[in-house]
Amino acid sequence: MKLRIVPDRLVVSEVFDSVQGEGPSVGVPSTFLRLGFCNLACSWCDTAYTWDAARFDLSKELTSRAIDELGGDLMARSPRNLVVTGGEPLLQSEAIATLLATLPHRVEIETAGTIAPTDALLARVDQWNVSPKLASSGNPLDKRRRDDVLARFATHSRAFFKLVIADEADLAEARALLDHHAVPRERTWLMPEGTTTAQLAERGRWLADVCTHEGFRLGTRLHVLLWGDRRGV
Ligand code: SF4
Repeated sequence: MKLRIVPDRLVVSEVFDSVQGEGPSVGVPSTFLRLGFCNLACSWCDTAYTWDAARFDLSKELTSRAIDELGGDLMARSPRNLVVTGGEPLLQSEAIATLLATLPHRVEIETAGTIAPTDALLARVDQWNVSPKLASSGNPLDKRRRDDVLARFATHSRAFFKLVIADEADLAEARALLDHHAVPRERTWLMPEGTTTAQLAERGRWLADVCTHEGFRLGTRLHVLLWGDRRGV
C-alpha cells in the first residue's frame, strides 16, 4: 500500500498503551496513536522514524490503516483517553476527524502549532497539547512559527502550551512567544530538555524556580524518567 495522505485512511507509526508522560494530564492511562509524517525537522526529534526518510525506511516504519479497522483496534484496548501524536498529526486532520467520530474516547492531540486545527477537530478534541518549536530545534523561523495558528490556540480554553527548555536562550524565546500571544500562564507547561534523569533533574530544579516566580506550570517528561528513550512506552 502506497503511503499517502487520504481522507479515509491513516498513516500510522505505532499504537501502544501507557500513561501520559507530559502536560496537564500526566499519569492518565492512555492509548497513544502515533501518526506518520511531519512538516518540521527538529534536530533533536526523538520520533524521527515517523518522517525522516533519509535515516529510516518509512515503508517499514509506517502503515496505511483503514479507519474502521483502526477504530476496532483502539476500542479493544482498555484506556479511554486517546492521545493522537506524531509526527505532526494535523497533516491528517480529515481522517482523524472521521476516526474520532466513531469513538467514545476522551481525546488529546499533540501538535507543533504550525497547522490550523479544523472546526471539526476543535469541536471534538478535549485537550490540545501545543508545542511550538524554538530556534534551538534547527527549523527556520518561517516553518516553525505560524502566528495565525498560535493565536487561534492561544484563545482556545482547551489548548495547553508545552515548551521544552534547555537553557536561558530557550526560556527568553519562549517567554517572548507566549507574551506575544497573551497565553495564560496557567495554560503553559515548561519542561526541562534532557534524555537522562540527571539532566531532567538539574534543568527541572532551575525551571522550578522560574515557574515559582513567573506563574508557569512545571512539567516533567515522565516517560524519559521511567524508560529513557525507549520506543512505544
Ligand atoms: S515537530 Fe515533533 S515530530 Fe516533527 S520533527 Fe519536531 S519533534 Fe519531531
